[in-house]
This record gives sequence, C-alpha cells and structure tokens, in this order.
Amino acid sequence: MSYESKMLEQFAMPSRKEVEQALLRVLLKHNGVIKEFSSGEAIVDEIADEFMLNAQQRSAFLETIYRKENRVKKALLWHRLLFRAADTLAKENMVSRPTQTLQLTKKREWMLTEKGFDEALNLCNIPASKKEFLPTKSYEVQKIVKKLIESPRNENYDPFDKNKRIIKTTRESALRSRGFRQAVIEAYNCQCAVCGLKLKSPDSLSWEVEAAHIVPNCSLGRDDVCNGIALCHLHHWAFDVGWITLLDDYKIQVSSQVDCLGYEFFRSLADKNVRICLPHKDEIYPHRNAICWHRQNIFYRQ
Ligand SMILES: [Zn+2]
Repeated sequence: MSYESKMLEQFAMPSRKEVEQALLRVLLKHNGVIKEFSSGEAIVDEIADEFMLNAQQRSAFLETIYRKENRVKKALLWHRLLFRAADTLAKENMVSRPTQTLQLTKKREWMLTEKGFDEALNLCNIPASKKEFLPTKSYEVQKIVKKLIESPRNENYDPFDKNKRIIKTTRESALRSRGFRQAVIEAYNCQCAVCGLKLKSPDSLSWEVEAAHIVPNCSLGRDDVCNGIALCHLHHWAFDVGWITLLDDYKIQVSSQVDCLGYEFFRSLADKNVRICLPHKDEIYPHRNAICWHRQNIFYRQ
C-alpha cells in the first residue's frame, strides 16, 4: 500500500469514486464550472462539508519528496484527493482541465463536458430531457458561445439561415441552440433587456430569463447573438406575438392596440421612451436587419 493510500485510510477519507461523484454534483450546482483547488477556495470547503469532514481530515497533509529540487513539499491530503478525483474525471472526458478551460474562457476552472453533464444529471436524478433548458456550461457548448460572441459584425447581416430545417434534429444543431441560448443570456447578464428582471430558481440551476430570437426559429432565424435578445417570460411572449418591438435606436415601441384591451402595463414602457438594456459590447447588439424584419413582419400595427 502506498504512503498516500495509508494516509487516506488512516484519516478515514472518502473514496475517490465518492469524491468524483460529489464533484459532478457540485459542478452541476455551480453552473458547470468550479475553480482550481487551492487553499482558501470556497469550493474546497464546500465539498468537504458534503462529506462532513472533521478538522483533522481537512488539515492532514502529505510530505512529498521532490527529487529534482531535493526538498520535501507538504500537500494537504484533502486537496490531493480532490485533484486525483478531478484528474480521473478529466481522463474519462467528464470534465475539462483548468489548462484547457483557460484557453476557452481565460479562467482556470474545471468545466463539465457533455458526457460529464449527462452523468451529473443522472446522479442528481434530473431527467435528461431537462438538459436543453438548463444554463449549465459545458466545454462543447462554451466553444460555440465563444465563437458566437466573437464573430465579427457584418453590416449586411442576413438573419436567415436557409439550411436550418435540414439540420434541425442533429446533435450538432442541439448543441448550437444551447450555445445560442447561453451566449444571449450571458451577453445580457441574465437580465430581461426590457424590464431588467433577473431571477433564478431556488436550486440555482436555471434563470427566469429566456433567449428570444428576433427573426424567430420558425422563420429560419439564425442562432446568432445579434439575432437574439434576453427577455423575461412576459416580454418574450409580448415580443413574439407582436405587442412590442424595437426601433433602430433600441427604444421599445408598443402597439397602439394595447390601449383598447386595457394592457396599460405595456404602455408604460412606451411612455417612458425606454431604450432596452444592451450588452457591454456593441458588436453583439441586436442587428438592425433583424429588428427591422421584426417591425415589419411581427409587430402589430392595426
Ligand atoms: Zn421583462
């Protein structure tokens, strides 16, 4: 038995398999990403709390001899166990390593992969059918988000994707539509662009806000951030049915017909002459070609 295994046994530490499963559950709870394990990181204590580790278990350390430098290095047994469990998950392609994630998001984090996401849902008894609606990050989807956020803006942008129907059911298009949703919601900081509402569920797994297409899916609207806008349920509905639209200066226009129906709460938006809350970068603002199409084809004018 190795020195490390003896120490794990001596301090009655949880098994590596148990720690792997706890990591996947915690990753799901933290939106698919957790920081590297180092002293003082809240995540290290959070997982220790899950196992109700006592003070001794948390502070026990290993002495490792660094032959190259000819010195003894002390490492916390708990950190080491966490790292080994995460390393195993990385080898099984359940998570991306901090060095990989860094290249994608500029943050040193462990991130779920699609395979790890499926396994985490399974461990938490969440049906796989809910996956599509969760904002949980995965390495594959984040690659798409990065591409969407960084794609150059084109003045002659065509908001229609003529091939959309053909690839509708592929895994690739399912990932792309999750990428669209996450990119839009991130771009708008999880807030409704119209009313600023920002709410999450009690389990912190999902946001109330939705990613709306400006040129909708059914009209073959592209899954691009500049054909998207983050809206709460009410404003998503009002935008999709044509009670509200956007002007070229991003002010909200409300249909004159709302007064006849007594929908004054929509009118208050127009009276204030409100501009929507926009993303930080103007390259990903809604594109004029998309909002112009919405005004002409969806907005209710009669
Ligand atoms: Zn709203």
